[in-house]
Amino acid sequence: MIDPACIFCKIAAGQIPSAKILADEHAFAFMDIGPLAEGHLLLIPRQHYVTLDQMPSEQAAGLLRHLPALCRALKQAIGCEGLNVLQNNGRVAHQVVQHVHFHLIPRTSGDAFGFNWPADKYPAGRMEQLAAAIVAALKE
Ligand code: 5GP
Ligand code: ZN
Repeated sequence: MIDPACIFCKIAAGQIPSAKILADEHAFAFMDIGPLAEGHLLLIPRQHYVTLDQMPSEQAAGLLRHLPALCRALKQAIGCEGLNVLQNNGRVAHQVVQHVHFHLIPRTSGDAFGFNWPADKYPAGRMEQLAAAIVAALKE
């Protein structure tokens, strides 16, 4: 399904111009217009899904199969030392455009990009309890 009001659906359909990197049946990749680093790309499904959990696994597989080649191309073309692959899923997670997208952000030491990583510790038993709940939910 395509959402005619969605900016990324319009980009994937060629109705809004973009600096295209690749396109196939499932996927479209293009340069982010507000780069966090030079070469910042977006990889999006051609179909309109707001969040990743809405995607059928075949559609997700067709999309994500491009990640390794895109990472290699960025390393070669940009000369970055590494990359962050970032998927903001839901408004609470800083998703502004409501169409699934993966950011590929080239990283070099000393660059300007960074994020808060507040690693914590579980109280005894809590991690196992949560793991069991997630496994049960996965089987549903
Ligand atoms: P989000 O915060 O939703 O994860 O990121 C959305 C991204 O889409 C931002 O990095 C923003 O720069 C990019 N973006 C928004 N509108 C456009 C557009 O019209 N063209 C391109 N190429 N990128 C866009
Ligand atoms: Zn869309």
